[in-house]
Amino acid sequence: MKTTPSESAVFPRGDRAPAEYFTGTAWVQPLVPDSRMFNVVIGHVTFEAGARNNWHTHPGGQILLVTAGKGYYQEKGKPIQVIQKGDVIQIPADIVHWHGASHEQSMTHIAISTNTEKGIVAWLQRVTDEEYNRSN
Ligand code: MN
Repeated sequence: MKTTPSESAVFPRGDRAPAEYFTGTAWVQPLVPDSRMFNVVIGHVTFEAGARNNWHTHPGGQILLVTAGKGYYQEKGKPIQVIQKGDVIQIPADIVHWHGASHEQSMTHIAISTNTEKGIVAWLQRVTDEEYNRSN
């Protein structure tokens, strides 16, 4: 039996990600809100093909668990990395980076922002088409 991604998804797709911080179509489902009990924020994010978030940093770091599809991850000054289902990306505090889908496939990850007593995210400029297309 053929199943579509939505039928096999573990978590709901959620709501549209805010356009000021994302280019293209992305969806966010909050899973664990910020609290001093855990000092983590966990969200489920789906990027449709071509979608990505802005350049940004996490004052307390972030871990990405890629659960579906194929996407890109880039740290400022380094080449774009292809990421796919099963990959775990550890992002140190204050590293300027972005993440998103590949040109041809969507990508879904669980994003775990750690040490949130230091802050969750600091958004920067958009990832331009020119920057995004350097993955080709
Ligand atoms: Mn990030």
